[in-house]
Amino acid sequence: MSDEKPEIPFQSVVLPEVLSEETEIPFRCYPGISCFNACCRMADVTLAPYDILRLKERLGLSTTDFLAKHTVPFQMDADGTPGVKLKTTDEGACLLLDGDKGCSVYEDRPTVCRYYPVALLNRHVAGETDTLQEYSLVREDHCKGHLEDRHISIGDYRVEQGCDIHDEHNREWYQLILKKRSAGPTVGRPPQTSLNVFFLASYDLDTFRRFVLSDKFRATYDLPETFYADIETDDLALLKFGYRFLRQVLFAEFSIPEQAGAWDKRVNQRQEVWDLRRQAEMARRQQAEDERYQGEL
Ligand code: SF4
Ligand code: SF4
Repeated sequence: MSDEKPEIPFQSVVLPEVLSEETEIPFRCYPGISCFNACCRMADVTLAPYDILRLKERLGLSTTDFLAKHTVPFQMDADGTPGVKLKTTDEGACLLLDGDKGCSVYEDRPTVCRYYPVALLNRHVAGETDTLQEYSLVREDHCKGHLEDRHISIGDYRVEQGCDIHDEHNREWYQLILKKRSAGPTVGRPPQTSLNVFFLASYDLDTFRRFVLSDKFRATYDLPETFYADIETDDLALLKFGYRFLRQVLFAEFSIPEQAGAWDKRVNQRQEVWDLRRQAEMARRQQAEDERYQGEL
């Protein structure tokens, strides 16, 4: 097993003990409990791709508008891998909290909110492509649910909170992040273009869809028309394809066939750009030299 520290999704106060689905925890949360909504008034919610799909659908927004209106960006690691969190008020309250009524998007709340006070830990296992899912317990003074007289296994708590479908659609994304981390500094910082693609394929799926349906993309990749028809209307198919595309971009795991000659064409286009840049630089230097000697000749 890797000794890498598991930390997805992110939580701030995680007890170090690693728990399994069988572990029983004392916990209950319900409207009317003395601390109702205290957690949402100090929200620190990192979003995963499927969370954004559910929330933008719920709010009737495009992913681009949802991100602008409801999220703040942050860097998930020293390489600048982009992450997004739910926006809060200056006091830290989630913008989706509807006063004393509670969460205004409860049925579509994000993964972190569903799991709380459990933290999901995805661990990379050496030699395996799949990740091991483990858990930890978050104890914060404001949360009185730990004092309730109910014991529930983490497995049953996951079912009660509807975590399964979120994990199913986010799992490959967690794997991507762990793979990038376990590769460490050996792979170096991905180019900014790759980080931009990571942002689009992970969070801004409506823009990613336009990119995949563009003439340039079609001219580069050899994919059937049925693929494009699916991508046009099916968010989950697009999400899944995004994970596949990211593996190709970040780890050179080539699974998307290219059109014949696409590579040569790209190299030629890049060569033209380099030639133009070189010519512009030479002209700039020539002009600087001319100006330097103008008064002396
Ligand atoms: S999304 Fe809902 S449950 Fe999550 S922090 Fe905001 S108000 Fe609370
Ligand atoms: S019991 Fe915990 S999770 Fe439930 S409302 Fe109170 S603080 Fe939030």
